[in-house]
Amino acid sequence: MKRRIAILGSTGSIGTQALDVISAHQHLFQVEVLTAHNNSQLLISQALKYKPNVVVIGNKDLYTEVMVALENEDIKVFAGHDAIAQVVEMETVDMVLTAMVGYSGLLPTIRAVKAQKPIALANKETLVVAGELIMGMAKEYNVPIIPVDSEHSAIFQCLVGENNPIEKIILTASGGPFRNLSPKQLAQVTRADALNHPNWCMGNKITIDSATLMNKGFEVIEAKWLFNLRPEQIDVVVHPQSIIHSMVQFEDGSIKAQMGLPDMKLPIQYALAFPKRLKSDFPRFSFLSYPNLTFEEPDTDRFPALDFAREAMVKGGNMPCILNASNEIAVEAFLNEKISFLKMADMVEACLGKQPFIAHPTYDDYLLTDKSTREFAYSLL
Ligand code: NDP
Ligand code: MG
Repeated sequence: MKRRIAILGSTGSIGTQALDVISAHQHLFQVEVLTAHNNSQLLISQALKYKPNVVVIGNKDLYTEVMVALENEDIKVFAGHDAIAQVVEMETVDMVLTAMVGYSGLLPTIRAVKAQKPIALANKETLVVAGELIMGMAKEYNVPIIPVDSEHSAIFQCLVGENNPIEKIILTASGGPFRNLSPKQLAQVTRADALNHPNWCMGNKITIDSATLMNKGFEVIEAKWLFNLRPEQIDVVVHPQSIIHSMVQFEDGSIKAQMGLPDMKLPIQYALAFPKRLKSDFPRFSFLSYPNLTFEEPDTDRFPALDFAREAMVKGGNMPCILNASNEIAVEAFLNEKISFLKMADMVEACLGKQPFIAHPTYDDYLLTDKSTREFAYSLL
């Protein structure tokens, strides 16, 4: 039987690539649900092409437009964020790909886990904000969480067939577009410079997070929860070619790496088809085309976000939630050209120092922390 997939965030970078993967393997997958936030036109054309059972547009103002466009189709149309969280529970959904951006992923992921739907997890912010809650629930409801993020997919792939403890993992980072800039140059970079990532073509928010290294900080936290690691077991190394997607070191000293050209379709396909590897026509990597694979230490003086994330992870509780909320506001302000590149780190640091600490947050505590952090961050603008 075909695996019926709900794609949350189908109009984004991951969502559209997931649809390409599904198109290439139509005998294996069926699109059951598509959701978007504002991009009604793309959602409509995706719905006409893939004929899902249900589509949801997050922005309720766009409901009529989507509904009218699909009225001659056998497709149910809903609107609003509650609907996104509800549709994942449908009996006809076999797997949920969380490919929306930011905090918006938290509630639908919780609902999907409680409905015992296997998760292909791209939305890393959910694990940053509430990793303990999500992983605890996944265990309780016996739900697999399969990473889509390329680094975590790499580690996951290295662990297949292993029943041995991890000594440590080594997350690779491209270093982003500003790896070689001086602090003075960093003060001058523009939105357009920051959106010009050297190796990956991604949504705007994660592209900015990659330029500040907050993305790598988030990935450290994501790895802690996915692989049940202590903070000191997670290393980060800058590898500008983005060929080694990450590595695992075992207790005998052996290191396994997963490699390939930078292309998110591979980890997306791996997560959707797990435990199978499907034949693909993705371009193949050649060692001779890359005679120099290089590695360097991340510079946390110029890119302090990585340290902020580590500190938030070590402190735990609601600190990573504060980190995420303040970062979302800072990135949005930078993308709207309201603050400079370096100001993003200042804002996050200010929020981390000012919001009340909760050691063992409940879901409601996360909601309140997210809200109050956003308010405080806005007040800094
Ligand atoms: P995009 O910005 O390209 O797409 C985001 C998707 O989420 C769109 O479909 C968007 O809808 C939808 N969306 C935006 N805001 C909301 C909201 N408030 N509620 C519900 N849906 C919303 O992001 P990416 O595809 O780049 O990233 C998605 C997630 O995957 C992120 O968490 C990112 O960190 C992670 N990821 C991405 C990688 C990549 O290569 N892109 C790599 C690894 C991880 P609309 O288009 O209508 O606005
Ligand atoms: Mg990544």
